[in-house]
Amino acid sequence: MSPTLFPRPEQLTIPVHGETAEFPVNRIFCVGRNYAAHAAEMGVEVDREAPFYFTKSAANAVLTGCEVPYPPGTENFHYEMELALAIGASAFRASPEEARAAIYGYGCALDMTRRDLQIRERQKQRPWDLGKDLEQGTVLAPFTKASDWGPVAEQPIWLELDGEIKQDATLAELIWSCEEIICHLSCYYHLQPGDIILTGTPAGVGPILAGQSIKGGIEGLTSVSLKLCKE
Ligand code: MN
Repeated sequence: MSPTLFPRPEQLTIPVHGETAEFPVNRIFCVGRNYAAHAAEMGVEVDREAPFYFTKSAANAVLTGCEVPYPPGTENFHYEMELALAIGASAFRASPEEARAAIYGYGCALDMTRRDLQIRERQKQRPWDLGKDLEQGTVLAPFTKASDWGPVAEQPIWLELDGEIKQDATLAELIWSCEEIICHLSCYYHLQPGDIILTGTPAGVGPILAGQSIKGGIEGLTSVSLKLCKE
């Protein structure tokens, strides 16, 4: 490898149950509005035309259990609890079978959001980056191999804020299935091992304040948590 002017940024790796080797995080794709009740609470209608996406930098992702400061530039910092897909094989224009085979594992994830900025960007028809791709704004829990969990069916998915349930749904509410997402997304990207897809959040998103903690779970997977420092 070529010498570099400053140390290479460290790549985040995620533990995998039953493995000593960890999963190196490459790209993070996120599906928007994949639960009808969440789309409704955001004041938008769901269409079945096609899923849509935004991306979050791997450099801005952290492992579960962190304590992080309240982010700058927002007065409405929101949690979104999501099912993450860990891609373990190349997929391009994948068939449903190839899509299923590309899923190495599953995990719990938080898609943290500067909601005031996201909504302002949306209203001005601008990109969502300031609202979505914030530092320490994606939280990932250890993955469980696909062969040790699933198939995705009616598993409960939930999130607690300081011990109070705020999001409470099941994976049966996903509008676009994991396979459908991979089939569609792989028409635009050569998906590769290390890519992660966040599949969208159910209803019940809301604000987290400095000093508060969130914990999110999906039945059969390791929970994900985040604490905001006191000011
Ligand atoms: Mn989300």
